Amino acid sequence: MRRQRPTLIAVSTLIAVTLTTAATPANAHNAAPPDQVTALTAHQADGYTTLAWQPVDGATDYQIERTPVDADNTPTGTPTIVGIWRPNRQINQQAPTFADAGYNPGDTFQWRVRARTGTTEQPYSEPVTATTTAPWGNPTTPGEHLRTGWETTHAAQYTSDTDEYAYTAAIDALSDRVRVVELGRTVQNRPINMLVIGHPTPAATPQAVAATAPVAINCNVHGNEPGDREACLIMARQLAFSTDPRITDLLSHTTVLIVPTINGDGRANNTRGNSTGQDLNRDYSLIRQPETTAYITMVRDYRPVAGYDGHEFGNSRAGDLPMLPPRHQNVAQPIFDQSQDMIEGHMYAKGAEAGWWACPYGCEGGGNVGLSEETILRNTLGLKNVTNSLLELRSSGGQTRPDEGNTANNRRRKTYSALWTFHQFLDYHRADRADILKARSEAIESQAANTGRLVFRGSRPIPAHPAPHPGDSPPPLDAPPADLILDTPPCAYKLTDAQYNGARTDGPGGIGTTVAQRIAAHGWKVITIGDEHYVPLNQPERGLIPLLLDGKGVEKLTDGERVYPTLTGRRNGPLTVTGFTCADDATINGPVTVRAGAALVTTATTISGPLTATSAAGILLADSTINGPVRIATTDTISIIDATIAGPADLSGNTTGTDAPVLAGTTIRGPLNCTANSATPTNLGIANTVHGPRTSQCAAL
Ligand SMILES: [Zn+2]
Repeated sequence: MRRQRPTLIAVSTLIAVTLTTAATPANAHNAAPPDQVTALTAHQADGYTTLAWQPVDGATDYQIERTPVDADNTPTGTPTIVGIWRPNRQINQQAPTFADAGYNPGDTFQWRVRARTGTTEQPYSEPVTATTTAPWGNPTTPGEHLRTGWETTHAAQYTSDTDEYAYTAAIDALSDRVRVVELGRTVQNRPINMLVIGHPTPAATPQAVAATAPVAINCNVHGNEPGDREACLIMARQLAFSTDPRITDLLSHTTVLIVPTINGDGRANNTRGNSTGQDLNRDYSLIRQPETTAYITMVRDYRPVAGYDGHEFGNSRAGDLPMLPPRHQNVAQPIFDQSQDMIEGHMYAKGAEAGWWACPYGCEGGGNVGLSEETILRNTLGLKNVTNSLLELRSSGGQTRPDEGNTANNRRRKTYSALWTFHQFLDYHRADRADILKARSEAIESQAANTGRLVFRGSRPIPAHPAPHPGDSPPPLDAPPADLILDTPPCAYKLTDAQYNGARTDGPGGIGTTVAQRIAAHGWKVITIGDEHYVPLNQPERGLIPLLLDGKGVEKLTDGERVYPTLTGRRNGPLTVTGFTCADDATINGPVTVRAGAALVTTATTISGPLTATSAAGILLADSTINGPVRIATTDTISIIDATIAGPADLSGNTTGTDAPVLAGTTIRGPLNCTANSATPTNLGIANTVHGPRTSQCAAL
């Protein structure tokens, strides 16, 4: 668990200096040929060994040799080339490293490394012998002693569903830091569990967890890609019981959400899809299946700010750990940028220290993958303003790990590389939490402003790194075709009652949840007037809404009617709103009254005020200014994002059911009072600025 790379680098440098300056004629090793690798070190970590050495001028690549030895350093097996280091493994070419993995943790080995110049093999380095790190946890300490089925069988078998439930239940029982919650059930009625992990205890409710800026790891959506799941189960034990200050510090600053097996049916049957054959990673926007519905509902309630989604893949030419940010062009720029920073800024740099080869998914001729489907969790989460990445574990040993014909060795390398990645993910969140939250706030505010074109399919390009570095062969371009671009966004989509509440047959067994239920699972605000249902775009998930409700949507739920703003430009005198009214880029010089059963949606609009709504169907204000008091009472749907209110604001007796009124990123130059609302208002993690007192339900906003 302890990472001492900075120390190690210092030590390896010291060793190099020592070898050079301590050279004596009596010691032949110190007269090393110029092409011999020197200063080889082996640093032990969880399930892998970082080998580091001084680079050899002119080396094309390096071969890493591993030999099992006994306690007397006598070989007990055949020396084997287990690794090939290539320059595009890492960003720091001057300090080559290789993460050797795949062996039985706890065994003792001797390593040597040699350079190759073209096909010419140079002399091997002096050997280094070390005992590798045993599986984490003292076998005699309660909790730490737990082991997964995969660990106890030495990677011969994956942990079964019943093993998982028993193991996570034991962690829950033995650790105050862990609460296991059931998010839902699979089609075949397997529990979909999530570990909620915090220090000293996890926050008590989803809403309280959300306030800790949690991180979420989805470990196993494709049932035949189980490597990440085993890493998640091991990491859960470490987080639950470790006394390492790094771990307790991490868990004191956030909550870690781990979903080991969203696709329990697919895992049990070793299939990519669920029991109905549905690829769940093509369903996170449509949420036709109970498994994806469970995950998306969790995202709505727990509000993770960062995520990883674990997979395996089969391109033998690419790196150990292909990753990819949310690329869909409707994802807010700050979320794309922050996700890229996590991958290229953090994972590439840390990978170069630990010896793991992170690179873009779809690189090195990886095929037409990693595109913009919003049905993929990576993109769905990005459209939900979550900094996140896909993680692929190269399924075969590939060209750089030639000893993975051994199945157990192959499985161990995958799982321990995933374990490294997930720990790095937590470290990134700990170090960059403020930036992640800033990106999220900016993304939510820019989405709610509803400006700029909408793209129905199409990805941002991933720029190439200069060769030879990870990412010098980027994933495929995926520009949006002209017919899938809408330059002028509508204000809202209007659905008929049949579209909104009508029965569907697109779920398992020919049944399906309604559009209304799916919109509720996504957490979008809906304004209902009579038998018409409006979904305004001035909401945090503005980039996702049209993909499901517009006729141009490639994989849509329904063909909603685009509703454009009816109020723009300057208008003088009092305004009484009836029906559904949308104002964009408007200036209203006068008081505004929203009648019972009517709705007002605004973007980039200034109202001289006051603004009064009583028993309205909905008030959604974004990127707008009210130069007077605001009073909203007994109203059904409320969202105020990135607004300025120059006067007292009062939200009282509102009837939003369990759907909390949103008041986020707003400046109120006066008191804020919220009383007797059916749900306590939320600020979505974006603080408001209130110049007067905040009272009652808004005391913490
Ligand atoms: Zn996959």
